Amino acid sequence: MAFNTLNIGRYKLGGACVGSCKIALQDAVTYTKQRVQFGKALAEFGLIKHKIAEIAIRTFTVESMVYRTAGMIDRILKSLDPQAEDSGVQMAKGIEEYAIEDSINKVYASEMLDYVVDEALQMHGGYGYIQDYAVERYYRDSRINRIWKGRTRSTVC
Ligand SMILES: Cc1cc2nc3c(=O)[nH]c(=O)nc-3n(C[C@H](O)[C@H](O)[C@H](O)COP(=O)(O)OP(=O)(O)OC[C@H]3O[C@@H](n4cnc5c(N)ncnc54)[C@H](O)[C@@H]3O)c2cc1C
Repeated sequence: MAFNTLNIGRYKLGGACVGSCKIALQDAVTYTKQRVQFGKALAEFGLIKHKIAEIAIRTFTVESMVYRTAGMIDRILKSLDPQAEDSGVQMAKGIEEYAIEDSINKVYASEMLDYVVDEALQMHGGYGYIQDYAVERYYRDSRINRIWKGRTRSTVC
């Protein structure tokens, strides 16, 4: 029961990271379109375009992983008989089947979100570091995702 709670939590953390990646991406796009340096909006510089594209690619990858895992869990749960006497046990076994995928989602999504918020902050320059801009909070809030749900630093447990 306790491990299955972790399994579901790890999978849900992946979904939460996708949402956070999208918000950070939106903020980065909005800011770099407004901020003018050397006579041009930041968003017009090749390096900034590259950063935006990398964020979009990684967000898409994490979102695809999360949807794939959701589909697999959904399929196995739909195949169960909810009226069966042991339906709870079957459900727990079904969820457990994708424990590894849940952990992959958790590790990869949390590392991608750290990358995304770091790049989003960097694109804000000095303003990224101060609390007037929300990206400063995204950066701080992201950090917990590599710690909780049972994984610290390079250890998956
Ligand atoms: C805000 C917040 C909310 C939380 N909510 C919940 C919750 O709702 N439910 C819940 O159950 N838990 C919750 N936790 C706990 C969270 O899951 C743990 O903090 C996390 O699993 C890390 O464990 P720890 O803090 O004991 O770190 P430790 O295990 O003490 O690890 C500390 C450091 O030592 C390293 N380390 C540990 N073991 C080894 C090893 N064998 N070899 C090498 N290095 C090692 C780690 O990598 C890490 O760098 C929450 C934590 C926070 C911060």
